[in-house]
Amino acid sequence: MTVTHDLSNEGDIATEIVAAVRDVLAGHATPVALHEPEFIGNELRYVADCIATGWVSSVGGYVDKFEADLAATTGCVAAIATMNGTAALHVALLLAGVRPGDEVLTPSLTFIASANAISYCAATPHFVDAEEASLGVDAVRLEAYLRTAATVTDGICTNRRTGAPIRALLVMHVFGLTGDLDALSAVADAWHLVLVEDAAEALGSSYHGRATGNFGRVAALSFNGNKTITTGGGGAILTNDAELGRRAKHLTTTARVKHRWDFVHDEIGFNYRLPNLNAALGCAQLERLPSLLARKRVLAEHYLARFADVAGVSAISEPPGTISNYWLNTIKLDAVTAARRDDVLTALNDAGFMARPLWRPMHLLPIYAACPRDALPVTEALSACVINLPSSAKLAGL
Ligand SMILES: *Cc1c(COP(=O)(O)O)cnc(C)c1O
Repeated sequence: MTVTHDLSNEGDIATEIVAAVRDVLAGHATPVALHEPEFIGNELRYVADCIATGWVSSVGGYVDKFEADLAATTGCVAAIATMNGTAALHVALLLAGVRPGDEVLTPSLTFIASANAISYCAATPHFVDAEEASLGVDAVRLEAYLRTAATVTDGICTNRRTGAPIRALLVMHVFGLTGDLDALSAVADAWHLVLVEDAAEALGSSYHGRATGNFGRVAALSFNGNKTITTGGGGAILTNDAELGRRAKHLTTTARVKHRWDFVHDEIGFNYRLPNLNAALGCAQLERLPSLLARKRVLAEHYLARFADVAGVSAISEPPGTISNYWLNTIKLDAVTAARRDDVLTALNDAGFMARPLWRPMHLLPIYAACPRDALPVTEALSACVINLPSSAKLAGL
């Protein structure tokens, strides 16, 4: 093994973090992945059955069942399965009324899909700052920012500087944590913004007893291979508006008008549907969701307890009144130890514990550097001090 820096120093933050992770993950063979899928239920059975029926592609019973099961799991009126979470977000934003030339408020601290989905609508991401507790949009800062940056005329929120309509607020539940969704909803209402949830990371999370995905007019989930449950690749649009649900199904299935043999498409739709084969996998994965969530919670409790004893770093826990799915466990270095972030990442990965930093904030990527934005001090500070740790459910040791 190559020693890239001195780890012999007692009290060294990198050494202490590696020791803490080693304690929590004791007994698990290295390398330990950041997040692995788990196929120990009916996955093979349903996929084999799907193949046996011949209906592996764009129609079939597993898609219908997966959508019904998702609606039941989230408590949403409608769930529409899509080929990935980014496609779900794209159509969610269109259904929220986002049009070319609009702006959409969204955190800079997010995965690229949130900003890209806005761009696919020919709209512009407008970046706002994050809060420490949930890593999501800071409702208080957002309200203060809108007072200086926006005005509402004839029921339309407008950017004072660019003159563009600010149509929606796309929030993201980072690593399964949820921020103050009541406060965010109130800001959205007061400023005539349509609230949309990027809940890609938050299946199984809730706020005051209500599952994420129920707060926006429309929301998006992801079932990528690294998410809480997976369909290989996949996503879903969630809504409590039955008519919007029908629109989502229509738009994601090429906008074809129902007919026994004729091909009439009444608008320019998308071929975004989830194949039946992937939905079969999804049905089996959803059956395992309660077990996955329970074990991920136990693992999170192990990390929280062990890191309580390490000075200079804290493990992030769910904010009061919320339930996190603890998709990815997260630690935060303090102001002093943050300078050692890259050493910590190197030491963890050298020790066989896959760890990674936050995404590069969107406003620091050249492709999004020119977008309108608030000052983003918390976003920039967090991006320099947050680290994700191995988080697969099987690591709970149960
Ligand atoms: C995973 C993810 C998505 C969607 O990703 P896909 O790979 O397209 O399914 C969107 N937003 C966030 C924040 C994500 O983490």
